[in-house]
Amino acid sequence: MNWLTTPNGRGYAPRAPAPLPTVSADALLAARELVLARVREDSRFLLAAHDGLDGDAIGSLIALHGLLSALGKRSSILIGPDDLPLPTQYRFLPPDGITSQPPPDISEWTVVLLDCGSIERNATPALRQGKHLLNIDHHHDNTRFAAVNYVNKDASCTAEIIWDLLHELQATLTPAIAQALYVALITDTGRFMYTNTSPTAHLMAAELLQAGVDVPALYRQVYEQQPLRRLTLLGIALGQIQRFDGGQLTLAVLSAADFDRAEANDSDSEGIIDELRAIKGTKVAVLAREDRDGEHKVSLRSTDGDVDVSEIARALGGGGHRRAAGFTTTLTPAELTAFLRQQIAAQLHGATDRAYVAV
Ligand code: AMP
Ligand code: MN
Ligand code: MN
Repeated sequence: MNWLTTPNGRGYAPRAPAPLPTVSADALLAARELVLARVREDSRFLLAAHDGLDGDAIGSLIALHGLLSALGKRSSILIGPDDLPLPTQYRFLPPDGITSQPPPDISEWTVVLLDCGSIERNATPALRQGKHLLNIDHHHDNTRFAAVNYVNKDASCTAEIIWDLLHELQATLTPAIAQALYVALITDTGRFMYTNTSPTAHLMAAELLQAGVDVPALYRQVYEQQPLRRLTLLGIALGQIQRFDGGQLTLAVLSAADFDRAEANDSDSEGIIDELRAIKGTKVAVLAREDRDGEHKVSLRSTDGDVDVSEIARALGGGGHRRAAGFTTTLTPAELTAFLRQQIAAQLHGATDRAYVAV
């Protein structure tokens, strides 16, 4: 491996992306059976998702908690202190069963990680100490870190997998569970706009509506109760848009000072990336947010599929889907921009060896 040193000396080593494993339909069904067996046989479940909870993570947690409770199981949702309180747009969902501390007898509990592409995406070490660890997810680059890995990359959202389990276990689709599943579905499909909007996603939506989801009321809760600070932050981001390579890369960087100015937090930046990807000519949209440690959380979106952004994210230790991915980096904005331009050019033109980055 060739290490490259950045001008400020911190350095980073982009790696050639590892090929992703293929999972046969039989293996997927076998994993589903293993999950069902645990749900039927075990009695205590600790549910968690990736840190920086999004709609799919929260909706899947609440729906699975509702399902397990209906089956007479004991269930808790573990959410780290940094993720509480929940982002404002999800606070209308029933917060039953949420705890911020793992139980002291966690070795007696079955731990379920939802919507979590790698174990590192949840910072609670205790989760490794459960009786069983189940990994239920839809990221194609899931690192398959658990004893049971039920990873269906064709599911529009993790909630779609929970919805299927609910059917199999013949549990009632209550209005509360339907609402949680619907929030997950609309947020992960970009309100039925992204490529993961499959016929199954629409069938699921139809069933959730039949189960009592009030669509306009729910959309209003999720998208139209925005604190003003979110729009202030959006305004700052829109004022700082940068475009590179004829507009193929559309980028905005929000500094910690920008967050202070808007009195906003990281979850207030959700949705800004959608404005960037909507700009004509964009192939890759990127939003970088500086956190309190001076690192940047980077969100990537690919517009028409010419660039696999999860490959770019994996090169710096992150991951995600082909059209939506993310990573955290110590690179400066200038270094990050150079890295992104090179990676995009490599994918679009195969021009440069992807294992090397010129800064
Ligand atoms: P976001 O940009 O945060 O909405 O994330 C887009 C997609 O990338 C989601 O599927 C995330 O799970 C994934 N993702 C975001 N950040 C990371 C990270 N640091 N490591 C792995 N996957 C990530
Ligand atoms: Mn997620
Ligand atoms: Mn998801």
